[in-house]
Amino acid sequence: MSTDLVFVNAEVITMERGRPHAEAVAVAGGRIVAVGATDSMRALANGAQVVDLKGRTLLPGFVEAHGHPTLEIMTVLPPTVDIRPFFVHDHDEVVAKIKETLAALPPGTLQAFYGYDPVLCPGAHKLERGELDAIAPDHPIVVLNNSGHAGYANTRMLAAAGINRDTPDPVGSQYERDSAGEPTGVALETAALIALTKPYFERVMAESSMPDLLRREFEMYARAGVTTASDMAFDRQSRPLFASYSGTQGALTRIVTYEKSDGGLKSDVSPGWGDDMFRQAGIKLWADGSPWIGNIATTFPYMCTGMTEAMGLKCGHIGHANYTPEQIHEVCEAYFPSGWQLAIHVHGDAIADSVLDAYDDVLSGHPRPDHRLRMEHCGALRADQYERAGRLGITCSLFPAHIYYFGDALADGLFGEAVAANWVSARSALDAGIKISLHNDAPVTPESPLLNMQTAVTRRARGSGRVLGPEHRITPLEALRAQTIDAAWQLFMEDRVGSITPGKFADLVVLDGNPLATDPERLSELNVVETYLGGRQVHQA
Ligand SMILES: [Zn+2]
Repeated sequence: MSTDLVFVNAEVITMERGRPHAEAVAVAGGRIVAVGATDSMRALANGAQVVDLKGRTLLPGFVEAHGHPTLEIMTVLPPTVDIRPFFVHDHDEVVAKIKETLAALPPGTLQAFYGYDPVLCPGAHKLERGELDAIAPDHPIVVLNNSGHAGYANTRMLAAAGINRDTPDPVGSQYERDSAGEPTGVALETAALIALTKPYFERVMAESSMPDLLRREFEMYARAGVTTASDMAFDRQSRPLFASYSGTQGALTRIVTYEKSDGGLKSDVSPGWGDDMFRQAGIKLWADGSPWIGNIATTFPYMCTGMTEAMGLKCGHIGHANYTPEQIHEVCEAYFPSGWQLAIHVHGDAIADSVLDAYDDVLSGHPRPDHRLRMEHCGALRADQYERAGRLGITCSLFPAHIYYFGDALADGLFGEAVAANWVSARSALDAGIKISLHNDAPVTPESPLLNMQTAVTRRARGSGRVLGPEHRITPLEALRAQTIDAAWQLFMEDRVGSITPGKFADLVVLDGNPLATDPERLSELNVVETYLGGRQVHQA
């Protein structure tokens, strides 16, 4: 096959151990065909398009091993109103934004607001329906917590969703109730949130072009240099939509899905179903919740602070799991023996023991080499738990943006300095022999692999600038592996993407500086200049 695209005069970081650096890359038919010196790659050009990168850095496209595109298209793109604390400054501004939005809508129109955050947004607190009824008397509204683990509805929205005192809690989730047994408007965890938001999302589906929303969603990934994304809360009903998007010439991102485990403990497809653009790798379970709403299962309590009071937590509060150890075991037994990879959300150290026990049992009963069982986020895991995970061959996807955005809240508002210093320890995971990925969990935090790397390398919190647990820092190269080849491995995609290797897809990103030679404190200031998917340019700054 003749070469159709050649990159020359680049600082190529291949992520290949045998040849880490090069100057030029040749592409044919969407795949990398040769890597080497500028002169020798130019010789292959033979009429091909030559891109002179003038010393810029060429990397494998970033891999986001834990994100939520399905959730993000419904939460940060219109008609949903984005009130994440990264863009709105305090509670009063949130209320003003809600009122301004509703003033422009006919009474009775269903509306959602995403990103309310009692931890990061001054004045924000747990919202119940009485307060929301006063803010929004004429419209059914739901305000979604930035964690994605809680939602706050007014009385009209509860009625629209058909949730009342007789509605049972779905497995693994809850509707909070007052002393008389009436729903307070607070819904916790995925199944309850899906039921609460169903009428609103029916409005979105009726008014929006879903292919258009998907295109806008993956434009955000392409801008961040991400060429392979994952969907960690995948609903099988979205499969035809994603399949038709991925099958088009204009698709911007490869998508690897993890289906929610609530489909009768059985998927409708086989492990690894799909193709190079859209495939299903695994099954997802949320064993506990979010530190930012108080429902992670730890062995230690939350502190008594103004922040925990605003979150609606009693003094000495200890969070809880979403599932019993027996239920976690049941989910593992339902899927693992038939070949599925599992990805289980784990924040608290208490729930980590339950998940490790379940993984240990299922691996003893059904040994399988190269299983790549996953644990997600891993906020409060201890070094001994990483060591046990390492012995079991488990892989972890870590959330360093917790340190950057929430580091001060962890130390001063929620758990104290000692817990904060150990939070999301990439060092402990690597020292235990665990392969890791780094992620943003978007929309929980905006897609930014470079900020993830910066934070894993520096562990510096945005607000005060303090460094949390410097002994848990990792090197820039370790962080880059966790956003490229090791993240690809976690998704069973390392034979196709994740490094600049002949035979792999030409999924590439051009940066205006070398992340391995940049001051780690300034990694997030590097710019994504261009992104290529299969040799096709999908983003240009
Ligand atoms: Zn997630």
